[in-house]
Amino acid sequence: MTDKAKGRIGKVKYKSYNKKKWFPRQFVKLIAGLVLLMVLGYTVVQMTPLRSLNLGIEEADTSLGWNLILVNKDYKIPSGYDPELTELSNGQKVDSRIYPQLQKMFDDARAAGLELFVREGYRTTQEQQKIMDEKIEEYRAEGYSNSEAKELAEKYVAIPGTSEHQLGLSVDINADTSKCSSDAVYAWLAENAYKYGFIKRYPSEKVEITGINNEPWHYRYVGTEAAAQMQESGLCLEEYIEQLKP
Ligand SMILES: [Zn+2]
Repeated sequence: MTDKAKGRIGKVKYKSYNKKKWFPRQFVKLIAGLVLLMVLGYTVVQMTPLRSLNLGIEEADTSLGWNLILVNKDYKIPSGYDPELTELSNGQKVDSRIYPQLQKMFDDARAAGLELFVREGYRTTQEQQKIMDEKIEEYRAEGYSNSEAKELAEKYVAIPGTSEHQLGLSVDINADTSKCSSDAVYAWLAENAYKYGFIKRYPSEKVEITGINNEPWHYRYVGTEAAAQMQESGLCLEEYIEQLKP
C-alpha cells in the first residue's frame, strides 16, 4: 500500500466519524432498517390469525364451581389449571371427579345393549396444538389456502388453550361400530347423559352461540343439577351460565 493510499483510507475513516457526515448516511440506514422491520412485521401479522395469538381471550371464570367452568373461543383455560386425572382402561384420562358418574353412565348404556368407548378424554395444550396443526394440513392438502384452511379447521378444532378436553371434564364417546351403530349410541346419550351430569355440549341448533359445529359425540360434565336444567330448558352452556349471572 502506498503512502498516498494509506492517507486516503485514513482520511475517509476520519470523515466517517465527522459529525456533519454522520447524519445522512446513518439516517438512510435507519430508515431502510425501519422499513424492513415494518414489512416483516406486517407479513407476520398477515400470516397469523389474531385468535391464534390468544389476544383478547380472557381466562375462564371459576367462581361458579369447577363443574361450570366455561371454556370456549372467548374464555381460555386458567393458567396453571392442573386437574387430578384418572386413567381409563384404554389409556384415556379424565378429571377424577367425573369418573364415578362416567363409569355409571357407561355401565347403564352397556346394560341397554350398546358398545361404546371414550375415544378422547383429557388433552394437554401440546396435544391440542398437534390436532389443530393436523387439521389445517388436511384442508391445505385439499387445496385450500393457508388462511382458508385455518378458518375451516377452527370450526372443528378448538384453538389450543380453549378446548374443553384440556379441562378433563369432556369426553368424545364413540360406538364400537362392529357391535352397534354410532346413531344408536348418540341417541341413547342425547336422551340419558343428563341423568349422570353430562350434556351434549355442541348441539346443531347452537352453532351460532358455541362456534362449534354439531358434535353428537362430545359430552361435557356439568353436574346432575345443571345437566337436568339444561336438558329441560334446551339451553347450551353459554346460555345457562349467562342466566346464572345476577
Ligand atoms: Zn370433543
